[in-house]
Amino acid sequence: MKFKSVRGTRDVFSPEIELWQYLENTAVALLKAYGFSEIRTPIFEESALFNRSIGEDTDIVEKEMYSFQDKKGRNLTLRPEGTAGVIRAAIEQNLLVQSNIAKLYYLGPMFRYERPQAGRYRQFYQIGAECVGSDNYRRDLEIILWCVDYFAAIGLTGLKVCLNSVGCADCRPAYREVLKKYLQDQTGKLCGDCQRRAVKNPLRVLDCKVDSCREIIFGIPAMQDWLCDACKTNLSEIEADLKKEKVNFIIDKYLVRGLDYYTRTVFEIKSENLGAQDTIAAGGRYDKLVQELGGPPMPAVGFALGLERVSEVRQKQKAVATPGNRIDIFFALLGEQAQNRAAGVIRELRQQRIKVEAVFENKSLKSQMRLADQSGAKFTAILGEEELKKDSVTLRNMQTKEQKDIKLDELSQFLKTAKSEEYNG
Ligand SMILES: [Zn+2]
Ligand SMILES: [Zn+2]
Repeated sequence: MKFKSVRGTRDVFSPEIELWQYLENTAVALLKAYGFSEIRTPIFEESALFNRSIGEDTDIVEKEMYSFQDKKGRNLTLRPEGTAGVIRAAIEQNLLVQSNIAKLYYLGPMFRYERPQAGRYRQFYQIGAECVGSDNYRRDLEIILWCVDYFAAIGLTGLKVCLNSVGCADCRPAYREVLKKYLQDQTGKLCGDCQRRAVKNPLRVLDCKVDSCREIIFGIPAMQDWLCDACKTNLSEIEADLKKEKVNFIIDKYLVRGLDYYTRTVFEIKSENLGAQDTIAAGGRYDKLVQELGGPPMPAVGFALGLERVSEVRQKQKAVATPGNRIDIFFALLGEQAQNRAAGVIRELRQQRIKVEAVFENKSLKSQMRLADQSGAKFTAILGEEELKKDSVTLRNMQTKEQKDIKLDELSQFLKTAKSEEYNG
């Protein structure tokens, strides 16, 4: 019996996993620099949490959630996104103190039952962050600039920020009515889902991916013209500062994002290197969600990025070197005695975080050297009868092919020096 991974899922391993680790480590370091601390929440939550926060009429809740009943009949869902769980946890653990600002980040797998296609998986990985407790536009900016700085740090180019405002409780209801009226006349041309949305939640129509709906969307009056003064000011302040920071951005007046909880700022960061699936990070402000989930009335703003897509764009930009997991030293060991002598040295080197591999399987020198080559090791240490007598190894630089004798006791110092020279050079 042979098993296969479930449709829409995949295994990630070397060399791609080294790239993922690099992307994650760089993100974590930069998130900390921006004042965020990590929170790990469960992979599954009560289904009602997502229905409530993401919104009943969204694609995610209508079609894409992995929901199930456990043995006690509880309705549970594998998290389709990170924000709802983080806010649930922040409220439950009393992390939200009014007049304070909570800044939390997360990373891990999310689950959506989508049609598998290039770069889209049913289990996918996100890195995201939430800043709760301020409606100051500089917090929106902080989130957008984090994304811009992150993509620059990992060497991505050809990116643009798409920005919009979806309004607030004061100005959105009026726009909803305008939209409802407009869509009433178009009902026949809308897809089945949108015919229903046009009545219940017309804003969701803007997010429809069906071609016939997209055509209608481009004739729709834009939210921009209905924004209240406070929302207008908020958007223009962000625009002014993005210009000041020399960020490449455009205003996309039809951008609404596929979740109901956004207020005011929404943004997406797009790559020119991805084709149709071009969004690599997205987020926005959600000033009502914390209260709707039973917390204090605290405004918030956040983002999430998809690791699969960021990794894909990074790989397409061949100019950027991908970090590897190269072995520092490979031991070719000839005979039982050599294996015994090397064992202690190898452990000592590993304790000093020097990456070591060795052959303990009694292979010929020739086949051990072939393995050393395949490993990509910088050095190979050959330990046979001759070397044992001198308590040294023949150390071969795999790149220059130079060889020299070096005492086993001096190996660790030599490798450390070689490593630091490599980093400085
Ligand atoms: Zn408003
Ligand atoms: Zn539609």
